[in-house]
Amino acid sequence: MIKVRNLVKQFGNTRVLDGIDLEIQKGEIIVVIGPSGTGKSTLLRCLNFLEQPDAGQLQIGDIDVDMNTATRQQILAVRRHTAFVFQNYALFANKTALENITERLIVVDRWPEEKARELAHRILERVGLSDKADAWPASLSGGQQQRVGIGRAMAAQAEVILFDEPTSSLDPEWVGEVLSVMKALAEERQTMLVVTHEMRFAHDVADRVIFMDGGSIVEQGPPSQLFQEPRDPRTRNFLRKVL
Ligand code: ATP
Ligand code: MG
Repeated sequence: MIKVRNLVKQFGNTRVLDGIDLEIQKGEIIVVIGPSGTGKSTLLRCLNFLEQPDAGQLQIGDIDVDMNTATRQQILAVRRHTAFVFQNYALFANKTALENITERLIVVDRWPEEKARELAHRILERVGLSDKADAWPASLSGGQQQRVGIGRAMAAQAEVILFDEPTSSLDPEWVGEVLSVMKALAEERQTMLVVTHEMRFAHDVADRVIFMDGGSIVEQGPPSQLFQEPRDPRTRNFLRKVL
């Protein structure tokens, strides 16, 4: 289980996250929605310390850390429990698909190369890219690159995978294959926190949908409830625009 208490993040005088409380159960699939500039990316980035929070308490795995005063060692420990999938894939351009997946295992987790390569081959198969192990990112389609990105996150065997708009950079033709890989992961009950505008995915796959606005969680619930009977006018207004 992951527990976040009173997460605050400011950029200058602007409070972008206004005391977020969030509990994620093991195996839970959560989708975060909300208007642009509302703090969704910042929330995910703070959970992985890609941004330094101004306040907050985070429990994940056996770690319990004050997010504002976390030591380098605590941050690395949190990162071992969280994996990130970026909107723009953020692959290493000078590494093959396979190497993108083995990199962290070999460099950070100190796996022997052979063992890392074995796992990476299994993962490439699961994301439908067994024939692309030696391909360079630039030679792959956006959908294929993002599937490598997801494969890299899978290799981390993290407590939770954080997805920040994983399909937003893709040409429409590649969106489906990436969502399918995510759906398969969800069916295996990989804990996931997903920021996305794909409402169909949210409806079909999420256990819980969180609506954020202005740096706060406005309301949350099972997709059927949140989409069909939103309680807050801000949620209703947002859904009117996107559904
Ligand atoms: P979108 O749907 O457009 O991706 P979002 O909900 O992910 O939006 P964030 O990217 O978290 O929103 O941004 C929240 C607010 O914080 C915005 O007003 C943004 O301009 C601001 N912000 C984000 N990153 C920084 C930064 N590094 N420096 C200053 N302000 C930032
Ligand atoms: Mg964002």
